[in-house]
This record gives sequence, C-alpha cells and structure tokens, in this order.
Amino acid sequence: MKQFIAPDIFKDSVIAVFTRKHPGADLDAISAMLKIKKEDIFMPMQEHTDTIHILHADRKPVIADAIITREQGVLLGIQVADCVPILMHESKRGVVSVVHAGWRGTAHALLQKTIRLMIREFTCRPENIQMAMGPSIKWCCYEVDSDVFKAVMKQTGEGDYYKEKEDKHCLDLATANKIQALTLGVSEDNIWISDECTYCYPDKYYSYRYAKKPFGRQGGFIGHCSRA
Ligand SMILES: [Zn+2]
Repeated sequence: MKQFIAPDIFKDSVIAVFTRKHPGADLDAISAMLKIKKEDIFMPMQEHTDTIHILHADRKPVIADAIITREQGVLLGIQVADCVPILMHESKRGVVSVVHAGWRGTAHALLQKTIRLMIREFTCRPENIQMAMGPSIKWCCYEVDSDVFKAVMKQTGEGDYYKEKEDKHCLDLATANKIQALTLGVSEDNIWISDECTYCYPDKYYSYRYAKKPFGRQGGFIGHCSRA
C-alpha cells in the first residue's frame, strides 16, 4: 500500500500529501519519505477551535485548527482521525493553508474563515484556490445527534451532505465543507475529495469512532519546500 495519497489537483510547485496509518503523523518518517527536514514541518496544537494562525518566520508552537502561510521552506501539517483534513493552495499568490474540520470546525465555518483571511491578508482569490480533502468519516458511518446536525446546517444551508436514517442524521463533513467553499467562489473543478471513509477502512486509517479512543492520527501536509 502506498503511504501517501497525492491529490492531482495541485500544481507542481507545491508538495501536498495525505498520509495513511503509516506513517500517520510520525514526523521522522514523513521527513525521511518526503526528504524534508523535520524542523521544516509545522503543525499546530489542535483543539477543535476556530483559531487560524498566520505563520511568518516565527515558528513557535501555537494552538490553532487552521494555518496559513506564504513562507517558503515550510511544510504545514494537520492531523486527524475521522475529521476532514483540508489542504489549500492559492497558486497565483503562492499561499498555502491547512484546516482541521471536524463537526465543530464545520459548524464554526472554519474553512470559510480561513479562505476569507487568505483573501484579506494575502489578496488571494477564491477562483485561484485548489483544495483537497483527505479521507474522513462519511455518512455511511457518521450518525450525529440533532444538536450537531443543526449546528452544521446553520452554517452550511441546504445541500447534499446529509441523509436521514430512521430517526438519525448522517453527515458527510467533507461535502458540507465543499458547499461552504463553493459559497465563497471556489470552483468545483478545483476541489478534490477522497472517496474513502476512515471508519470503513480501519486497517488503513485511524478512526476515532471505530477505535472509541484516540490512538493515532493520519495527516495532511502542504507547502513550498525544496527537498533536502
Ligand atoms: Zn463508512
């Protein structure tokens, strides 16, 4: 099994990959495999916030669930185990970003807030954004209670991102985030979504719901880095 998924939506100038269970978020292994120095990989401390960090030269640790940068030589990373890992590249401005979108992030429109900040801080344009969403839990396996459903729906509106199963709501967070991105003017042609559900493939992916405890994370990584 290949260890990296490389979405074909991005231009050559950027390194953009999703990992599976192995190497997961093992930075030594990722550094070796991508030939990028470990200290050039930057990952936030994720806490299901709607905090977005703009990374400049200073790489001190931060609590955030989205990171934006125009720095060269840094690989941004985000880690997940059912939530949606989102990678973005604004190819005209050379800006990259990562977003950790669980139901809370989706209900807080974290992806939209990140895109708006890319526009405001770096004059990015939605039509120049390429976006990829890695493996995450899908509606086949993601029943949520009505409070969660309502919170996501409030931000997302109507769309093809949920199903009713008996008296339960089943959510597809990747599709909800896609709808939020389309609303801001990102082109559907520029959005890549993995068709794999983390809960359906527990041999390949960490799934918090499947394991019922946190025991590991896979990741999404993007950046303008020269390989060592
Ligand atoms: Zn599934």
